[in-house]
Amino acid sequence: MPKEIVSAFVILLSLLILPNMGVGYQTIQTTQQMIVIDPGHGGTDTGLISSSGLKEKNIALKLARKTGKLLEKRYNVLLTRNNDLHIPARERIFLANKNTADLFLSIHLHRSNQPFVFCYYFDPPAPYPKLATANDSTWKSHPLLHQPGSKQVINSFFSIFSTHKKTHQFLSTGSPILLLEGLTMPAILIEPFCISTLPQPPDEIDIILDEYAVLISKSIDHYFMGE
Ligand SMILES: [Zn+2]
Repeated sequence: MPKEIVSAFVILLSLLILPNMGVGYQTIQTTQQMIVIDPGHGGTDTGLISSSGLKEKNIALKLARKTGKLLEKRYNVLLTRNNDLHIPARERIFLANKNTADLFLSIHLHRSNQPFVFCYYFDPPAPYPKLATANDSTWKSHPLLHQPGSKQVINSFFSIFSTHKKTHQFLSTGSPILLLEGLTMPAILIEPFCISTLPQPPDEIDIILDEYAVLISKSIDHYFMGE
């Protein structure tokens, strides 16, 4: 094969492969709704660690991947991280904003030892801190514009999770969460269960995560399609 054709082929191949390698700076243009799923923590930031040594960062990533798999049939799905990397909050937010995502979902776990589901939307502390520049002001006020949408997302999660046998209580609240600050779309952070209630064997963990992935994807369908 002539050299030019080989190098053209390599360039074409790298164009096809590269967009899938790092999730950090992808831009996808499409008519489908775009959902950014944000697995909490990563890398040196382990998040919670259960008494049996399970790490929140790993469980959150597994659940995010399973949820993404279910959703990608109907939506465009981006993960803020798809491996064990520490990604600063600003970068996660930038990815969602740059892709003009329709929904940002951050997945974490809690440690309350109760079958609770915690859901948070962005709510600034009162009084909201004075802002230095106009740009900062735009940055900070965006999540407030999307607060009604974020509350609607939480209502959808409540509708679906309240039918689930393991959910005893669904608690939602506004909070000045850094991970949701500056997002330009409806955005929530969910802690669907307590890390310490997970069993040890990986296949049993998988069964539970599959169950939650279905609930999360149904909640998102409920929000977008009223189903
Ligand atoms: Zn967390």
